[in-house]
Amino acid sequence: MTPDCSLKVAGLVPLSTVDKPDALIATVFTQGCPWRCPYCHNPHLLVSEPPGGDATGLWTWERVMAFLGTRRGLLDGVAFSGGEPTIHADLVAAMRDVRDGGFAAYLHTAGPLPAALARVLPLVQWVGFDVKAPFDEYKRVTRVADSGSCARESLRLLVGSGVPFEVRTTVHSDQLDLPALERLADDLAAEGIDSWVLQACRTEGAGPGIGPNKTSLDSLDSLRKRVPAISTR
Ligand code: SF4
Repeated sequence: MTPDCSLKVAGLVPLSTVDKPDALIATVFTQGCPWRCPYCHNPHLLVSEPPGGDATGLWTWERVMAFLGTRRGLLDGVAFSGGEPTIHADLVAAMRDVRDGGFAAYLHTAGPLPAALARVLPLVQWVGFDVKAPFDEYKRVTRVADSGSCARESLRLLVGSGVPFEVRTTVHSDQLDLPALERLADDLAAEGIDSWVLQACRTEGAGPGIGPNKTSLDSLDSLRKRVPAISTR
């Protein structure tokens, strides 16, 4: 194990069948995210320090690795989720530790830091990439200017890397109506994306200020003309 790895771990799900398709994994949640999506289901993970500071944190990286040592042969891999894992310089060391321990390393990211994503891609065996909105309209979801250009650059890096990935979008009627989804589908098609997962936003558990979701994912024909393989969950 990397002796000085101090990845900010906010929590760990010891067994997940939903965070990576067709795999049994553990999911590590990292602390902190530079964006502020109104539907975020992990608002306690957005700030760089957990409420109350590190003293309340239960998981050190050392403890995560000790746990994984008891799961060899039982788990296929570890997904790093968040928050936004790529904001942590120690993600590289943590992924190396996971790989050295005999597990696959998977990543959930929205791609806010292309250079950081480029550093970890050689270590990753699958990426779940969250696309928020048409790239020129990202701020309406992330509340951060120019976030769409970072996301587009990250997606290009991912596509060029050859690492298997899933592109998925959380859909809430406050941010994405059908015309906006069509503009996003155009953007994805322009990047060569032919497979896309749409997730209807669940509003229970989201932060304050998110209203009822009125978007229907029942009629997606206009999107499938742009991105042929669309699934919903
Ligand atoms: S990018 Fe993800 S973790 Fe960050 S605010 Fe948006 S939904 Fe939450």
